[in-house]
Amino acid sequence: MKIAIDGPSGAGKSSLAKGIAKRYGIVYVDTGALYRAIGLYAQRKGIVLEKIGEICSLLGDLEVSLRYEEGEQQVFLFGENVSGLIRTPEISAYASAVSALPAVRSFLLETQRKIARETSVVMDGRDIGTVILPDADVKIFLVADDRDRARRRYEELCSKGLNASFEEVLSDMRKRDENDRERDIAPAIPAEDAVLLDNTGFTVEQTLNRALEIIEGKISK
Ligand code: C5P
Repeated sequence: MKIAIDGPSGAGKSSLAKGIAKRYGIVYVDTGALYRAIGLYAQRKGIVLEKIGEICSLLGDLEVSLRYEEGEQQVFLFGENVSGLIRTPEISAYASAVSALPAVRSFLLETQRKIARETSVVMDGRDIGTVILPDADVKIFLVADDRDRARRRYEELCSKGLNASFEEVLSDMRKRDENDRERDIAPAIPAEDAVLLDNTGFTVEQTLNRALEIIEGKISK
C-alpha cells in the first residue's frame, strides 16, 4: 500500500500520516526531513541563502539517510543523527531554498522511491503524489486556512522552547508556501487524482477519520 499526503506547511500532514501509519501498521516517511538535512548541511558549510546554488557542487559527497528507531523516523547526515537540529525557523528557510534546486530534488528522488519499493508507506511532502509516487494507491492533498496552519506551527515551536512571534511564523510560512507552489520543478500542487481535504477547524482525530474514509473508499474500489 502506498499513500501520498501532500500539502502546504502546517496543514497537519505529519500528524495525519502518523495516524494512518499506526492504523494500517505501515511505515511513515517524512520527506521534508531530507530537505531539512540538506538545508542544515548548506548552513554548516557557510553557504548563504542568496547563493544556495553552491550546494549543488557538494552533492557528490553528501550522505543523507533515513532510519527507524523504535518506530520513529530519524534522519542522518554523514552518519550523524540530526533529527533534533532541523526544525528551527532558520533550517526551514534553508530547506525551502535547497528544495527549489533540481539537483537536490533528483539527488533525493531515489532515496524516497527506494523506501516505497521495499515496504508499504504513507509518505508526506509536497510532490509525493505528482513526482515521487505517481502510482500511489491513495493521494490526499491536505489544506487548511493559513492562520490556522501558522497557529499550529507557532504552538509547536513554543512547545519546543523556540522563540518566535506568531506574525513572524505566519509570514515565514506564507513565503515558504509561495516558494513551494511557484517553483519550476515539482511545485507543491495537487496531483490530478488527489483528493483535496480541507481540515480548517478540524481536530487531529477528525482529520484522521475523514482521511480514513477517503482511503477506505479508494481501496474498496
Ligand atoms: O514538510 P517540511 O516543512 O518539513 O518541509 C521542509 C521544506 O522542504 C518545505 O518547505 C519544502 O520546501 C521542502 N519539501 C519539498 N518537497 C517535499 C518535502 C519538503 O520541497 N516532498
